[in-house]
Amino acid sequence: MSKNNTPLTIVWFRQDLRVQDNPALCEAAENGRILPIYILDDENAGNFKMGAASRVWLYKSLKDLNKSLNGHLQLFKGDAKAILDKLAKETKATGLYWNRCYEPWRVKRDKQIKAANWFKDIQSFNGSLLWEPWDITKTDGSPYKVFTPFFKKSCLGAAPPRKIISRPTRIDYGDDVDFALELEELDLLPEIDWHSKMLEHWDVSENGAHERLSSFLDNGLKGYKEGRNFPSENYVSRLSPYLHHGQVSPNQVWYAAQHKGETLGCDKDLYHFHSELGWREFSYNLLYNFPDLPETPLQEQFKDFPWREDKDILEKWKRGQTGFPIVDAAMRELWETGYMHNRSRMIVGSFLVKNMLLHWHEGEAWFWDCLFDADLANNSASWQWIAGCGADAAPYFRIFNPMLQGEKFDEKGEYIRKWVPELKNLPDKHLNQPWDAPDDVLKEAGITLGEDYPRPDIGHKEARERALEAYETIKKKST
Ligand code: FAD
Repeated sequence: MSKNNTPLTIVWFRQDLRVQDNPALCEAAENGRILPIYILDDENAGNFKMGAASRVWLYKSLKDLNKSLNGHLQLFKGDAKAILDKLAKETKATGLYWNRCYEPWRVKRDKQIKAANWFKDIQSFNGSLLWEPWDITKTDGSPYKVFTPFFKKSCLGAAPPRKIISRPTRIDYGDDVDFALELEELDLLPEIDWHSKMLEHWDVSENGAHERLSSFLDNGLKGYKEGRNFPSENYVSRLSPYLHHGQVSPNQVWYAAQHKGETLGCDKDLYHFHSELGWREFSYNLLYNFPDLPETPLQEQFKDFPWREDKDILEKWKRGQTGFPIVDAAMRELWETGYMHNRSRMIVGSFLVKNMLLHWHEGEAWFWDCLFDADLANNSASWQWIAGCGADAAPYFRIFNPMLQGEKFDEKGEYIRKWVPELKNLPDKHLNQPWDAPDDVLKEAGITLGEDYPRPDIGHKEARERALEAYETIKKKST
C-alpha cells in the first residue's frame, strides 16, 4: 500500500502534550498516518476557560510538542465540535483518537463528538490518571468522600497503574490542513509582558519535565515525607504544571519514583509521594462524581455561610500586602513564579477564608488565573478542603495561625526573606510579627511599618474569633 493509502487518524492532543507514554498517539501511529491537532476551545469551556498563566504555559508547550512532531502539529481555535466536523469533511481521516479529560464541560462535549459519528473509528484512552474514576468506588458503587479508604483500600487494592508505553518508533504524517492556524494566532500570550520573569523558573517542555523528575528523584525523594512541609527546601517535585498539561504522565512519575524509592530503600517517603499522586486521583474522582465541585460546597450547610465582601482586603491578599509575612511571601512566590508550595497554599487559603472571611471562590479564581498548574479538579477540591466545606476537609474551626506556621515551617526565615526582601534585615525573632518588634529593632532593620511594609488590618486573635462566630451561624442551622 502506498503511504497515502494508509488510514489517516486524527490525534487530538489536549492535556497530554507529550510524545512518550501517550496511548492515543501510539495506537494511531501503529494504524497508519496521523494528523496531530490541538484545539483551543474557549467556547465549550465557558466559565472554565484557561487562566492567563496556563495560556502562557500552553504556548510554550505547543511550541515544544510541534518540534517533537517535526512541525506537523495543526492548531485550531473555536468550538471543537464544529472544527472536527469540518476536519472530517475536508481531510480523508477515518479515525479520531484522544486521551480522556475529566472536566465536566469536556466530558459533555466529548460525548457529543462520539455520538456525532463524523469518523468511522473514534477511540479514547487513559493518558492522565492512574485509575479511572468509574473503577474506584465504594463496594456499593457510590463515590468516596474520604481519602484514606479511597487510596489504601480501593486504589492500592485495584490492578496496578498501566505500565509505560514507549514513544512510537515511527510516525507517518498526513498532509497539513489549509485552515489550521499559526501558534501566534491562538493569542495565548498577554499583551503586557508579565510572563517572561515567571518563565525563567521553568523549562516548559517534555524534556524539562523529565529533567525535573530526575532532579527530584535524586535530591528530594529521600526525606520527602517530612521535607515536603518546608517551602524553602527542595523536597517537593514541582511537577504539577507538567502533570496538568501532560508533559509527563502520572504513570511515568509513579514508576520512576517506585524504582528510585526501592533503590534508595526509603519506603515511607515513597509511600507518601505515591499518596500525594493519590490525592490528585481523589480530586479527579470527586470532580467526575460531583461535577458542581468548582462552584458548590460538598457540605450543604456551607451554602449559607456568611462570607464577607471586601475588595480592598482581597486586593492586599492577591498582591502579598496583608502584613503577615508568611502569607505575603507565598502570594509573591505565586506572582513571581506561577507556582506556590503546598504548605504555603494551605496557609494563604486558610488566611483568605478564615482570617479574612472571604469566599473560597475568590481564592479559587485567583489561583486559576495565576498558577501554571491551575487544574479544575485539584484547585476546586483543595479550596473546598481548606474552606472546610469539601471532602475529607480540614474542620472549619481548625484555623491556621500564620505566625506559628511561619515559625514552624520557615524557622530560619529563608522563604520570607526571599520573597519579602524588605524584611530581610529583621531578626528571626520578629520576622513573623514585625508589628511587635520594638522601634529600635525596626529602625535598625530599615523598616518603617505602614511605609516599607504594611501593618495587618486585623490581628489573628480577633480574626479567629470572628471566623468562629460566623461558623456558629451555619452550625446552628445544620443542627
Ligand atoms: P509534590 O509534593 O511533588 O507532589 C507530586 C504531585 O502530586 C503534584 O505535582 C500533584 O499533581 C500531586 N499532589 C500533591 N499534593 C496534592 C494535593 N494536596 N492535592 C492534589 N494533588 C496533589 N494542585 C494542582 O495541581 N493544581 C491546582 O490548581 C491546585 N490548587 C490548589 C489550591 C489549594 C488551596 C491547595 C491547598 C492546594 C492546591 N493544589 C493544586 C494541590 C497541591 O498544592 C499541588 O498539587 C502541589 O503543591 C504541587 O507541587 P508539587 O508538584 O511540588 O507537589
